[in-house]
Amino acid sequence: MSWKKTADAVVIGGGMMGIATAYYLKKLGVKDVALLEKNTVASGSTGRCAASFRAQWGGELNITLGKACIDRFEHLEEHLGVDLDIERYQNGYLLVAYTDKQFEQFKKNVALQNSMGVESQILSHAEAMEICPGMCVDDAAGFSYYKRDGHADPMISTFAYQEASKKIGVRIEKFTEVTGFKVGDGCVRGVVTNKGAIATDTVVNAAGPWAGRVGALAGLNIPAKGERHEILATEPVDWGVCPTMLMSFEPDYYMFQRPHGSILAGCGPNMYRKEAAPFDDYEMEDSWNFLEHMTGHLNKLLPRTRGIRVVRQWAGMYDITPDLQPVIGEADEMKGFWVNVSGARGFMFGPVAGEMVAEKIVKGSTSLPIDEFHWRRYAEGRFLVEPSIA
Ligand SMILES: Cc1cc2nc3c(=O)[nH]c(=O)nc-3n(C[C@H](O)[C@H](O)[C@H](O)COP(=O)(O)OP(=O)(O)OC[C@H]3O[C@@H](n4cnc5c(N)ncnc54)[C@H](O)[C@@H]3O)c2cc1C
Repeated sequence: MSWKKTADAVVIGGGMMGIATAYYLKKLGVKDVALLEKNTVASGSTGRCAASFRAQWGGELNITLGKACIDRFEHLEEHLGVDLDIERYQNGYLLVAYTDKQFEQFKKNVALQNSMGVESQILSHAEAMEICPGMCVDDAAGFSYYKRDGHADPMISTFAYQEASKKIGVRIEKFTEVTGFKVGDGCVRGVVTNKGAIATDTVVNAAGPWAGRVGALAGLNIPAKGERHEILATEPVDWGVCPTMLMSFEPDYYMFQRPHGSILAGCGPNMYRKEAAPFDDYEMEDSWNFLEHMTGHLNKLLPRTRGIRVVRQWAGMYDITPDLQPVIGEADEMKGFWVNVSGARGFMFGPVAGEMVAEKIVKGSTSLPIDEFHWRRYAEGRFLVEPSIA
């Protein structure tokens, strides 16, 4: 196919954040939308993630978006008009607090969630055991639970957006790496790629963990980078070994069973990293340290996993920002240069954050609040506080 040298909007990055942004831009009437992906759609963090979604956040903005994301995932196939099954499964997140201080925070989170229409609950140990009968967390101080939290298949969900985007005419350019930008008079004028240049006055940098690097090509300081996280999958086992998402922020772990039986489990790098800094967070090798740590944890928390086999482990990158919150908006220094970075929750937030960024570009306002996520907050000395993260 011949290379088209112009576009009304260019989205960089074919993960959930980028593909959703491209879809909603086109849906909202932008005529010629091009999505540029250096590899293939979902080949970055999105295809490597645990693909869980939740409304159990502790800050209002995140609860608002988390709730909207659950609504969207619950009807994603109909919403997009695609004949795919994203393998959505909702059996809740069971969050474990190990200290009284953590548990007090859970109680505050649940009160706020309830006031915003999220019917989460504080559970006693006995109630939590009913949700996840096989677990062994006798040292827990308390639990919170929301039954509509859940997960889906990351590849199929992203491909659902890809298919819907193609249907409405988004140009998806795979194996197309952005290598530079054309700028002038404080505005973006175009992108330069390994295949040629595209003139445009609207660019969305949705390159996730690479967003800082992509921003630097335009001379911008976008505070987003990669942080390597690992995850494993076991062979399929009888249903019920871990029917809910069992998760704790301190110590940091999560584990849950997929509908076809395998258990996925992961944790943050500080739990197992033994190497001295410097450490390359863009290195995608998985590690023995993680496997040893995570299987030990799994066997302790879910004794029925003892003796089952791990069939796969892999690494991916969290797209992290200085306060671990999203970085979204138009660059103050460059008109037309937009950023849509999730702060390591891009699978769940992508479908809604993509729509909000598209609304902001097309209409100048959004139906859900995202302005607080602009990264000028760092220059102003403001960090967003989210208590419900590791
Ligand atoms: C182990 C693990 C578990 C996780 N679990 C969850 C979870 O349960 N729920 C959740 O919501 N999130 C989870 N995350 C985080 C989630 O994966 C990310 O937040 C999300 O995928 C980010 O989406 P994205 O579209 O911004 O980035 P990506 O999916 O990484 O997409 C960015 C794309 O940009 C492309 N790109 C980069 N540079 C260029 C360039 N110069 N030109 C063109 N293309 C370029 C890349 O190839 C990539 O495909 C997890 C992450 C990991 C690693």
